[in-house]
Amino acid sequence: MDTRPGFAGVIGNTPLIRMETLSRETGCEILGKAEFMNPGGSVKDRAAAWIVREHERSGALKAGGTVVEGTAGNTGIGLVHVCNARGYRTVIYMPDNQSREKVDLLRTLGAEVRVVKTVPYADEMNYQKQAGRYAASIPGGVWANQFDNTANALSHYESTGPEIWAQTNGKLDAFTCAVGTGGTIAGISRYLKEQSPAPRVVLADPHGSALFNWVTTGEAKMTPGPSITEGIGNSRVTQNLAGALIDDAVQIPDPDMVRMVYRMLREDGWFFGSSTGINLCAAVKIAEQMGPGHTIVTILCDGGHKYQSTLYNPDFLTKRNLATG
Ligand code: PMP
Repeated sequence: MDTRPGFAGVIGNTPLIRMETLSRETGCEILGKAEFMNPGGSVKDRAAAWIVREHERSGALKAGGTVVEGTAGNTGIGLVHVCNARGYRTVIYMPDNQSREKVDLLRTLGAEVRVVKTVPYADEMNYQKQAGRYAASIPGGVWANQFDNTANALSHYESTGPEIWAQTNGKLDAFTCAVGTGGTIAGISRYLKEQSPAPRVVLADPHGSALFNWVTTGEAKMTPGPSITEGIGNSRVTQNLAGALIDDAVQIPDPDMVRMVYRMLREDGWFFGSSTGINLCAAVKIAEQMGPGHTIVTILCDGGHKYQSTLYNPDFLTKRNLATG
């Protein structure tokens, strides 16, 4: 028999996919780690599983306990799945600028969702801070705290990084991905650079984020936005991101990201979300900088299903002057 133990047992060990059109065009091997194939549908399943496990190990999370998080999407989805399977309640705080589909999906899965006013991080009523306070105020409550809880980066150091190293036989020239919490880039970059100094690690940033400037100038200064991407970009350097080993950054405009996801759909059959579009654009840019014959790995973060009212809605794109081809 070849079986896996329940929901958490299916997280990780995702395929590393050769992106056919992009590899052919660049003369490089452009490889995507298929995180959309995790059981909750995104790269955040790993962080959710590790965060819950860490709270169990520390003794803070016990049978019948509640996991609270401030999240606009994938981490909440991963957490509800993992918590349902382990008998915990999930309470999610979300800013009120997020799509209806995300609130509905989280409620369908079984989370208690509290939609709160969208205010900057510095404000005490910010959704993340409200989540932290609520967790501390209830018996048996823990705050997942994905931005600054380094169990998030550890999930990628212990699973995604080693998987990529093994799947490429250690033969990779560059790794690139976009950053939300920084867990993915921190965990993977630390693991890869412990094996070899060779892989170049490049942060891919959308517009309207401070991380491109942080990497290239040392100052986390916002670039002009907006961007329709979701789950990526940040105005601050989180505890997770602070542990990343990054060599360079590229900035990807939304029009390039939109053309990329539609090309992948029409030419290669893939249905990706916006952060994956940013990642693939960055991989191509790095391939062009390095020249043919190099192996570049990136993350295929999630599928397009959650973005049908935005990225895959012709009216939404037209209003923002974004073309699909
Ligand atoms: N892509 C998507 C779709 C996400 O939801 C996230 C997480 N916010 C990321 C990329 C970024 O991953 P990380 O938080 O590990 O930086």
